[in-house]
Amino acid sequence: MAKGKHKLHFDREKCKACGICIAFCPANVFTVDIDYCAVISSPDKCTGCRRCELYCPDYCIFVEEDYYG
Ligand code: SF4
Ligand code: SF4
Repeated sequence: MAKGKHKLHFDREKCKACGICIAFCPANVFTVDIDYCAVISSPDKCTGCRRCELYCPDYCIFVEEDYYG
């Protein structure tokens, strides 16, 4: 079965601007805003590896796999 895209859900209110997701993302999906919080700038590059979800200490990110919306 063909794999779908991945949808990133991000809770900006919980982000403490640690930069871990940016450091671990192999696809350079994230940039930072003026407060150094993560911004999902290139969602189409996401490979669905879920490193951001697994390493974020504040559970800000959820990766929805096989998203067809
Ligand atoms: S799932 Fe992987 S590729 Fe996608 S944003 Fe997170 S770390 Fe980057
Ligand atoms: S790892 Fe989590 S808390 Fe840290 S910058 Fe990324 S989203 Fe924010």
